[in-house]
Amino acid sequence: MPLTEITSRVRSAEISSGRKTGSARLIAVSKMQPNERVIATLDAGHRLFGENRVQEAAGKWPEWIASYDDVELHLLGPLQTNKARQAIGLFDAIHSLDRPKLVRTLARLAQEVGTCPSLFIQVNTGEESQKAGVHPDALDALVKESRSLDLPVVGLMCIPPAAEEPALHFALLAKLAARNGLAELSMGMSADFETAIAQGATYVRVGSAIFGARD
Ligand SMILES: *Cc1c(COP(=O)(O)O)cnc(C)c1O
Repeated sequence: MPLTEITSRVRSAEISSGRKTGSARLIAVSKMQPNERVIATLDAGHRLFGENRVQEAAGKWPEWIASYDDVELHLLGPLQTNKARQAIGLFDAIHSLDRPKLVRTLARLAQEVGTCPSLFIQVNTGEESQKAGVHPDALDALVKESRSLDLPVVGLMCIPPAAEEPALHFALLAKLAARNGLAELSMGMSADFETAIAQGATYVRVGSAIFGARD
Protein backbone atom coordinates (compact mmCIF):
# COMPACT_ATOMS: atom_id res chain seq x y z
CA MET A 1 0.00 0.00 0.00
CA PRO A 2 1.49 3.39 -0.86
CA LEU A 3 2.57 5.68 1.95
CA THR A 4 0.02 8.31 0.93
CA GLU A 5 -2.77 5.82 1.52
CA ILE A 6 -1.53 4.97 5.03
CA THR A 7 -1.10 8.67 5.81
CA SER A 8 -4.67 9.37 4.76
CA ARG A 9 -5.95 6.46 6.86
CA VAL A 10 -4.11 7.97 9.85
CA ARG A 11 -5.75 11.37 9.15
CA SER A 12 -9.21 9.76 8.79
CA ALA A 13 -8.77 7.89 12.07
CA GLU A 14 -7.83 11.15 13.80
CA ILE A 15 -10.96 12.84 12.45
CA SER A 16 -13.33 10.01 13.33
CA SER A 17 -11.89 9.93 16.87
CA GLY A 18 -12.39 13.67 17.22
CA ARG A 19 -8.66 14.28 17.41
CA LYS A 20 -6.51 17.05 16.04
CA THR A 21 -4.88 16.53 12.66
CA GLY A 22 -1.28 15.51 13.16
CA SER A 23 -1.78 14.38 16.75
CA ALA A 24 -0.97 10.79 15.73
CA ARG A 25 2.46 10.56 14.08
CA LEU A 26 3.29 7.79 11.63
CA ILE A 27 6.54 5.89 12.24
CA ALA A 28 7.49 4.01 9.07
CA VAL A 29 9.07 0.80 10.34
CA SER A 30 11.89 0.03 7.91
CA LYS A 31 13.44 -3.01 9.61
CA MET A 32 14.46 -5.80 7.24
CA GLN A 33 13.21 -3.93 4.19
CA PRO A 34 15.17 -3.58 0.96
CA ASN A 35 17.04 -0.26 0.82
CA GLU A 36 15.27 0.89 -2.34
CA ARG A 37 11.88 0.80 -0.61
CA VAL A 38 13.16 2.93 2.25
CA ILE A 39 14.84 5.39 -0.12
CA ALA A 40 11.59 5.71 -2.10
CA THR A 41 9.81 6.67 1.13
CA LEU A 42 12.51 9.22 1.97
CA ASP A 43 12.22 10.62 -1.57
CA ALA A 44 8.45 10.88 -1.07
CA GLY A 45 9.18 13.21 1.84
CA HIS A 46 8.58 10.98 4.85
CA ARG A 47 11.06 11.61 7.68
CA LEU A 48 10.02 9.55 10.71
CA PHE A 49 11.32 5.97 10.77
CA GLY A 50 11.60 3.08 13.20
CA GLU A 51 14.09 0.24 13.40
CA ASN A 52 14.21 -2.81 15.62
CA ARG A 53 17.90 -3.50 16.00
CA VAL A 54 20.79 -1.15 16.74
CA GLN A 55 23.18 -3.11 14.53
CA GLU A 56 20.93 -3.14 11.48
CA ALA A 57 20.11 0.56 11.85
CA ALA A 58 23.78 1.49 12.28
CA GLY A 59 24.54 -0.24 9.00
CA LYS A 60 22.26 1.88 6.85
CA TRP A 61 20.90 5.01 8.55
CA PRO A 62 24.03 7.19 9.07
CA GLU A 63 24.34 7.56 5.29
CA TRP A 64 20.65 8.47 4.83
CA ILE A 65 20.70 10.83 7.81
CA ALA A 66 23.62 12.61 6.15
CA SER A 67 21.85 12.91 2.78
CA TYR A 68 18.29 13.82 3.86
CA ASP A 69 17.37 16.74 6.12
CA ASP A 70 15.45 16.26 9.36
CA VAL A 71 15.33 12.48 9.52
CA GLU A 72 13.99 11.28 12.87
CA LEU A 73 14.93 7.72 13.82
CA HIS A 74 13.32 5.71 16.62
CA LEU A 75 14.51 2.43 18.14
CA LEU A 76 11.53 0.10 18.66
CA GLY A 77 13.16 -3.23 19.55
CA PRO A 78 14.83 -4.47 22.74
CA LEU A 79 18.02 -2.71 23.80
CA GLN A 80 20.94 -4.53 25.40
CA THR A 81 22.95 -2.42 27.82
CA ASN A 82 26.14 -3.03 25.81
CA LYS A 83 24.49 -1.32 22.80
CA ALA A 84 23.16 1.62 24.78
CA ARG A 85 26.00 4.00 23.95
CA GLN A 86 25.63 3.33 20.23
CA ALA A 87 21.86 3.73 20.51
CA ILE A 88 22.19 7.13 22.20
CA GLY A 89 24.36 8.29 19.33
CA LEU A 90 22.04 7.12 16.58
CA PHE A 91 18.41 7.37 17.72
CA ASP A 92 16.13 10.32 18.51
CA ALA A 93 13.87 8.13 20.63
CA ILE A 94 13.94 4.71 22.26
CA HIS A 95 10.62 2.87 22.75
CA SER A 96 11.89 -0.15 24.70
CA LEU A 97 13.03 1.05 28.11
CA ASP A 98 11.87 -1.81 30.33
CA ARG A 99 14.14 -2.48 33.31
CA PRO A 100 16.06 -0.77 36.11
CA LYS A 101 19.47 -1.85 34.80
CA LEU A 102 18.83 -0.15 31.47
CA VAL A 103 17.52 2.95 33.27
CA ARG A 104 20.76 3.23 35.22
CA THR A 105 22.97 2.58 32.18
CA LEU A 106 21.16 5.20 30.08
CA ALA A 107 21.30 7.70 32.93
CA ARG A 108 25.06 7.25 33.31
CA LEU A 109 25.70 7.51 29.55
CA ALA A 110 23.35 10.48 29.15
CA GLN A 111 25.35 12.33 31.83
CA GLU A 112 28.59 11.49 30.09
CA VAL A 113 27.46 12.29 26.53
CA GLY A 114 25.32 15.27 27.50
CA THR A 115 22.21 14.21 25.56
CA CYS A 116 19.60 11.48 25.69
CA PRO A 117 16.96 10.32 23.21
CA SER A 118 13.31 10.70 24.23
CA LEU A 119 12.32 7.56 26.10
CA PHE A 120 9.20 5.41 26.07
CA ILE A 121 8.76 2.69 28.67
CA GLN A 122 7.60 -0.56 27.11
CA VAL A 123 4.79 -2.18 29.10
CA ASN A 124 4.02 -5.89 28.82
CA THR A 125 0.27 -5.30 29.02
CA GLY A 126 -0.54 -8.96 28.36
CA GLU A 127 1.99 -10.14 30.98
CA GLU A 128 3.38 -12.62 28.46
CA SER A 129 6.47 -14.46 29.68
CA GLN A 130 8.29 -14.37 26.33
CA LYS A 131 7.68 -10.68 25.70
CA ALA A 132 9.78 -7.68 26.70
CA GLY A 133 8.34 -4.87 28.75
CA VAL A 134 7.76 -4.03 32.39
CA HIS A 135 4.67 -5.58 33.97
CA PRO A 136 1.91 -3.05 34.66
CA ASP A 137 2.29 -3.40 38.44
CA ALA A 138 5.99 -2.51 38.27
CA LEU A 139 5.57 0.46 35.93
CA ASP A 140 5.07 3.28 38.39
CA ALA A 141 8.29 2.43 40.23
CA LEU A 142 10.26 2.37 36.97
CA VAL A 143 8.85 5.75 35.94
CA LYS A 144 9.79 7.12 39.34
CA GLU A 145 13.35 5.78 39.18
CA SER A 146 13.80 7.13 35.63
CA ARG A 147 12.61 10.57 36.69
CA SER A 148 14.83 10.58 39.76
CA LEU A 149 17.80 10.10 37.40
CA ASP A 150 16.58 12.91 35.10
CA LEU A 151 15.86 10.64 32.15
CA PRO A 152 13.51 12.17 29.56
CA VAL A 153 10.66 9.66 29.78
CA VAL A 154 7.89 10.96 27.51
CA GLY A 155 5.49 8.06 27.17
CA LEU A 156 4.62 4.37 27.08
CA MET A 157 4.75 1.69 24.39
CA CYS A 158 3.05 -1.71 24.09
CA ILE A 159 2.71 -4.65 21.72
CA PRO A 160 -0.57 -6.45 22.55
CA PRO A 161 -0.75 -10.27 22.59
CA ALA A 162 -1.45 -11.55 19.09
CA ALA A 163 -4.62 -13.41 20.03
CA GLU A 164 -6.31 -10.70 22.08
CA GLU A 165 -8.45 -7.69 21.32
CA PRO A 166 -5.85 -4.90 20.93
CA ALA A 167 -8.26 -2.12 21.97
CA LEU A 168 -8.28 -3.42 25.56
CA HIS A 169 -4.48 -3.25 25.72
CA PHE A 170 -4.39 0.19 24.14
CA ALA A 171 -6.95 1.44 26.65
CA LEU A 172 -4.91 0.00 29.51
CA LEU A 173 -1.74 1.67 28.22
CA ALA A 174 -3.57 5.00 27.97
CA LYS A 175 -4.77 4.64 31.54
CA LEU A 176 -1.27 3.79 32.81
CA ALA A 177 0.20 6.79 30.96
CA ALA A 178 -2.40 9.18 32.36
CA ARG A 179 -1.78 7.88 35.86
CA ASN A 180 1.93 8.64 35.46
CA GLY A 181 1.48 12.01 33.78
CA LEU A 182 2.96 10.82 30.48
CA ALA A 183 1.68 12.40 27.25
CA GLU A 184 2.94 10.06 24.52
CA LEU A 185 1.48 6.68 23.56
CA SER A 186 3.35 4.44 21.10
CA MET A 187 0.83 1.80 20.06
CA GLY A 188 -0.69 0.30 16.93
CA MET A 189 0.94 -1.49 14.01
CA SER A 190 -0.13 -2.39 10.45
CA ALA A 191 -3.14 -4.44 11.52
CA ASP A 192 -4.53 -2.18 14.23
CA PHE A 193 -3.22 1.38 13.96
CA GLU A 194 -6.68 2.88 13.48
CA THR A 195 -7.89 1.17 16.66
CA ALA A 196 -4.84 2.56 18.46
CA ILE A 197 -5.57 6.10 17.24
CA ALA A 198 -9.13 5.79 18.54
CA GLN A 199 -7.60 4.90 21.93
CA GLY A 200 -5.24 7.89 21.93
CA ALA A 201 -2.03 6.74 20.17
CA THR A 202 0.34 9.64 19.51
CA TYR A 203 2.76 7.39 17.58
CA VAL A 204 1.72 4.45 15.41
CA ARG A 205 4.41 2.05 14.17
CA VAL A 206 3.58 0.76 10.70
CA GLY A 207 5.90 -1.49 8.70
CA SER A 208 4.48 -4.06 6.31
CA ALA A 209 1.40 -2.00 5.37
CA ILE A 210 3.76 0.66 3.96
CA PHE A 211 6.70 -1.35 2.65
CA GLY A 212 5.22 -4.77 1.96
CA ALA A 213 6.06 -8.08 3.63
CA ARG A 214 9.52 -8.50 5.15
CA ASP A 215 11.78 -11.42 4.14
C1 LIG B 1 8.02 -4.78 13.32
C2 LIG B 1 7.43 -3.90 14.33
C3 LIG B 1 6.41 -3.00 14.00
C4 LIG B 1 5.75 -2.93 12.63
O1 LIG B 1 5.05 -4.11 12.39
P1 LIG B 1 4.09 -4.24 11.09
O2 LIG B 1 3.14 -5.31 11.48
O3 LIG B 1 4.96 -4.60 9.96
O4 LIG B 1 3.41 -2.95 10.91
C5 LIG B 1 5.96 -2.16 15.00
N1 LIG B 1 6.47 -2.18 16.24
C6 LIG B 1 7.45 -3.03 16.58
C7 LIG B 1 7.99 -2.98 17.98
C8 LIG B 1 7.96 -3.91 15.66
O5 LIG B 1 8.91 -4.77 16.03
